[in-house]
Amino acid sequence: MELPKQFYFQNYYRILPFLILVVVLLSGCTSGFVGGARGTGRFDTVVIDAGHGGFDRGAKPVSGVYEKDLALDTATRLASQLRQKGLHVVETRTGDYFVTLDNRVAVSNRLKDSIFVSIHYNWAKRKKASGIETFYLNPNSARLASRIQSKMVGTYRCRDRGIKSRKLYVLRNNKRPAVLCELGFVSNRNENAIVQSSKTRQKLADSIASAILAERASYLSAPASDR
Ligand SMILES: [Zn+2]
Repeated sequence: MELPKQFYFQNYYRILPFLILVVVLLSGCTSGFVGGARGTGRFDTVVIDAGHGGFDRGAKPVSGVYEKDLALDTATRLASQLRQKGLHVVETRTGDYFVTLDNRVAVSNRLKDSIFVSIHYNWAKRKKASGIETFYLNPNSARLASRIQSKMVGTYRCRDRGIKSRKLYVLRNNKRPAVLCELGFVSNRNENAIVQSSKTRQKLADSIASAILAERASYLSAPASDR
Protein backbone atom coordinates (compact mmCIF):
# COMPACT_ATOMS: atom_id res chain seq x y z
CA MET A 1 0.00 0.00 0.00
CA GLU A 2 1.35 3.32 -0.95
CA LEU A 3 1.11 5.90 1.80
CA PRO A 4 0.12 9.43 0.90
CA LYS A 5 3.04 11.87 0.44
CA GLN A 6 1.77 13.85 3.40
CA PHE A 7 2.56 10.89 5.68
CA TYR A 8 6.28 11.00 4.88
CA PHE A 9 6.32 14.75 5.29
CA GLN A 10 4.72 14.64 8.75
CA ASN A 11 7.02 11.86 9.93
CA TYR A 12 10.07 13.68 8.68
CA TYR A 13 9.19 16.60 10.90
CA ARG A 14 8.65 14.24 13.82
CA ILE A 15 12.17 12.81 13.65
CA LEU A 16 13.87 16.11 12.73
CA PRO A 17 14.60 17.14 16.34
CA PHE A 18 16.09 13.70 16.92
CA LEU A 19 18.30 13.99 13.83
CA ILE A 20 19.53 17.41 14.96
CA LEU A 21 20.37 15.98 18.38
CA VAL A 22 22.38 13.14 16.81
CA VAL A 23 24.34 15.60 14.63
CA VAL A 24 25.07 17.84 17.63
CA LEU A 25 26.22 14.89 19.75
CA LEU A 26 28.45 13.54 16.99
CA SER A 27 30.09 16.90 16.35
CA GLY A 28 30.60 17.25 20.12
CA CYS A 29 32.62 14.04 20.09
CA THR A 30 35.08 15.34 17.53
CA SER A 31 35.36 18.98 18.54
CA GLY A 32 34.70 18.61 22.28
CA PHE A 33 34.59 21.55 24.63
CA VAL A 34 38.07 21.06 26.03
CA GLY A 35 39.60 18.20 24.07
CA GLY A 36 38.99 19.43 20.52
CA ALA A 37 39.97 23.09 20.87
CA ARG A 38 43.55 23.92 20.00
CA GLY A 39 46.03 24.01 22.84
CA THR A 40 48.73 26.48 23.78
CA GLY A 41 51.70 24.30 22.99
CA ARG A 42 54.34 23.65 25.59
CA PHE A 43 55.11 26.50 28.01
CA ASP A 44 57.23 26.90 31.15
CA THR A 45 56.49 30.53 32.00
CA VAL A 46 53.19 32.13 33.00
CA VAL A 47 52.85 35.89 32.67
CA ILE A 48 50.21 37.04 35.13
CA ASP A 49 48.66 40.38 34.39
CA ALA A 50 46.71 42.11 37.16
CA GLY A 51 44.38 44.50 35.33
CA HIS A 52 44.50 48.30 35.87
CA GLY A 53 46.54 49.92 38.69
CA GLY A 54 47.54 53.36 39.96
CA PHE A 55 45.24 56.12 38.70
CA ASP A 56 43.41 53.54 36.60
CA ARG A 57 41.24 52.10 39.34
CA GLY A 58 39.19 49.86 37.04
CA ALA A 59 35.59 49.09 37.87
CA LYS A 60 33.94 50.81 40.83
CA PRO A 61 32.31 48.26 43.13
CA VAL A 62 28.91 48.60 44.82
CA SER A 63 30.98 48.65 48.02
CA GLY A 64 34.51 47.74 49.07
CA VAL A 65 37.74 47.96 47.09
CA TYR A 66 38.12 48.78 43.40
CA GLU A 67 38.78 46.32 40.60
CA LYS A 68 42.51 47.18 40.49
CA ASP A 69 42.96 45.94 44.09
CA LEU A 70 40.84 42.81 43.64
CA ALA A 71 42.75 41.97 40.46
CA LEU A 72 46.18 42.47 42.06
CA ASP A 73 45.21 40.40 45.10
CA THR A 74 43.92 37.53 42.93
CA ALA A 75 46.94 37.74 40.59
CA THR A 76 49.34 37.59 43.57
CA ARG A 77 47.56 34.52 44.95
CA LEU A 78 47.67 32.88 41.52
CA ALA A 79 51.39 33.67 41.14
CA SER A 80 52.30 32.14 44.48
CA GLN A 81 50.19 29.05 43.76
CA LEU A 82 51.94 28.47 40.43
CA ARG A 83 55.41 29.12 41.89
CA GLN A 84 54.71 26.52 44.56
CA LYS A 85 54.04 24.07 41.73
CA GLY A 86 57.42 24.86 40.18
CA LEU A 87 56.36 27.13 37.34
CA HIS A 88 58.28 30.22 36.27
CA VAL A 89 55.99 33.19 36.88
CA VAL A 90 56.40 36.80 35.76
CA GLU A 91 53.96 39.49 36.92
CA THR A 92 53.24 42.60 34.86
CA ARG A 93 52.68 44.54 38.10
CA THR A 94 53.24 43.67 41.75
CA GLY A 95 51.92 46.85 43.35
CA ASP A 96 49.47 49.71 42.93
CA TYR A 97 50.96 51.50 39.94
CA PHE A 98 49.96 52.11 36.34
CA VAL A 99 51.36 49.93 33.55
CA THR A 100 50.50 50.65 29.90
CA LEU A 101 48.84 47.91 27.86
CA ASP A 102 51.90 47.94 25.55
CA ASN A 103 54.24 47.24 28.45
CA ARG A 104 52.03 44.42 29.70
CA VAL A 105 52.02 42.69 26.33
CA ALA A 106 55.77 43.30 25.88
CA VAL A 107 56.46 41.08 28.90
CA SER A 108 55.02 37.94 27.29
CA ASN A 109 56.18 38.87 23.80
CA ARG A 110 59.76 38.85 25.15
CA LEU A 111 59.35 35.39 26.67
CA LYS A 112 59.13 32.68 24.01
CA ASP A 113 58.00 29.87 26.32
CA SER A 114 55.20 31.85 27.97
CA ILE A 115 51.44 32.16 28.15
CA PHE A 116 49.65 35.35 29.23
CA VAL A 117 46.79 35.37 31.76
CA SER A 118 45.07 38.66 32.56
CA ILE A 119 42.91 39.04 35.67
CA HIS A 120 39.93 41.40 35.80
CA TYR A 121 36.60 41.91 37.53
CA ASN A 122 33.56 42.91 35.54
CA TRP A 123 31.20 45.86 35.57
CA ALA A 124 27.91 46.65 33.81
CA LYS A 125 25.33 49.41 33.90
CA ARG A 126 22.65 46.76 34.28
CA LYS A 127 22.89 45.96 37.98
CA LYS A 128 21.60 42.43 37.50
CA ALA A 129 24.40 41.43 35.10
CA SER A 130 26.43 38.65 36.73
CA GLY A 131 28.72 35.72 36.14
CA ILE A 132 32.18 34.71 35.06
CA GLU A 133 33.57 34.83 31.51
CA THR A 134 36.89 34.28 29.76
CA PHE A 135 38.11 35.99 26.59
CA TYR A 136 40.65 34.74 24.07
CA LEU A 137 41.44 35.62 20.46
CA ASN A 138 43.93 33.24 18.87
CA PRO A 139 42.45 29.73 18.45
CA ASN A 140 45.54 28.33 20.21
CA SER A 141 44.22 29.92 23.41
CA ALA A 142 40.70 28.44 23.20
CA ARG A 143 41.42 25.27 25.14
CA LEU A 144 43.19 27.14 27.94
CA ALA A 145 40.23 29.56 28.08
CA SER A 146 37.83 26.58 28.32
CA ARG A 147 39.81 24.94 31.06
CA ILE A 148 40.04 28.15 33.12
CA GLN A 149 36.38 29.02 32.58
CA SER A 150 35.06 25.61 33.62
CA LYS A 151 37.25 25.53 36.74
CA MET A 152 36.34 29.10 37.77
CA VAL A 153 32.58 28.60 37.54
CA GLY A 154 32.88 25.84 40.12
CA THR A 155 34.26 28.19 42.79
CA TYR A 156 31.08 30.03 43.72
CA ARG A 157 27.45 29.93 42.59
CA CYS A 158 27.45 32.07 39.50
CA ARG A 159 26.29 32.31 35.93
CA ASP A 160 28.60 30.67 33.39
CA ARG A 161 28.93 33.31 30.65
CA GLY A 162 31.29 31.04 28.72
CA ILE A 163 34.38 31.73 26.66
CA LYS A 164 34.32 34.41 23.97
CA SER A 165 36.64 35.42 21.17
CA ARG A 166 37.22 39.16 21.51
CA LYS A 167 39.73 41.58 19.97
CA LEU A 168 40.91 43.05 23.26
CA TYR A 169 44.22 44.95 23.14
CA VAL A 170 46.25 42.58 25.31
CA LEU A 171 44.97 39.60 23.30
CA ARG A 172 45.26 41.22 19.85
CA ASN A 173 48.85 42.33 20.38
CA ASN A 174 50.08 39.20 22.11
CA LYS A 175 52.40 36.80 20.28
CA ARG A 176 51.78 34.16 22.96
CA PRO A 177 48.67 32.19 23.89
CA ALA A 178 46.65 34.70 25.90
CA VAL A 179 43.41 34.82 27.88
CA LEU A 180 41.61 37.53 29.84
CA CYS A 181 39.46 36.37 32.76
CA GLU A 182 36.53 38.35 34.13
CA LEU A 183 35.95 36.93 37.60
CA GLY A 184 32.55 38.41 38.51
CA PHE A 185 30.60 41.67 38.44
CA VAL A 186 31.44 44.24 41.11
CA SER A 187 28.40 46.20 39.90
CA ASN A 188 26.14 43.36 41.09
CA ARG A 189 25.39 43.63 44.82
CA ASN A 190 25.43 39.87 45.51
CA GLU A 191 28.39 39.03 43.35
CA ASN A 192 30.43 41.97 44.62
CA ALA A 193 29.91 40.78 48.20
CA ILE A 194 31.22 37.35 47.14
CA VAL A 195 34.34 38.56 45.31
CA GLN A 196 35.20 41.13 47.99
CA SER A 197 35.89 38.11 50.23
CA SER A 198 39.53 36.96 50.20
CA LYS A 199 38.35 33.36 50.58
CA THR A 200 36.58 33.58 47.23
CA ARG A 201 39.61 35.16 45.57
CA GLN A 202 41.83 32.37 46.89
CA LYS A 203 39.41 29.81 45.42
CA LEU A 204 39.38 31.66 42.09
CA ALA A 205 43.20 31.82 42.04
CA ASP A 206 43.44 28.11 42.86
CA SER A 207 40.96 27.22 40.11
CA ILE A 208 42.89 29.23 37.49
CA ALA A 209 46.16 27.65 38.66
CA SER A 210 44.77 24.12 38.34
CA ALA A 211 43.51 24.86 34.81
CA ILE A 212 46.93 26.22 33.79
CA LEU A 213 48.65 23.18 35.30
CA ALA A 214 46.26 20.84 33.45
CA GLU A 215 47.00 22.57 30.14
CA ARG A 216 50.75 22.31 30.78
CA ALA A 217 50.48 18.68 31.88
CA SER A 218 48.83 17.76 28.58
CA TYR A 219 52.11 18.69 26.84
CA LEU A 220 54.46 17.19 29.38
CA SER A 221 52.81 13.79 28.93
CA ALA A 222 52.13 14.04 25.17
CA PRO A 223 54.52 12.59 22.63
CA ALA A 224 56.86 15.18 21.06
CA SER A 225 54.95 15.08 17.75
CA ASP A 226 51.83 16.56 19.43
CA ARG A 227 53.58 19.61 20.84
ZN1 LIG B 1 39.21 45.42 34.06
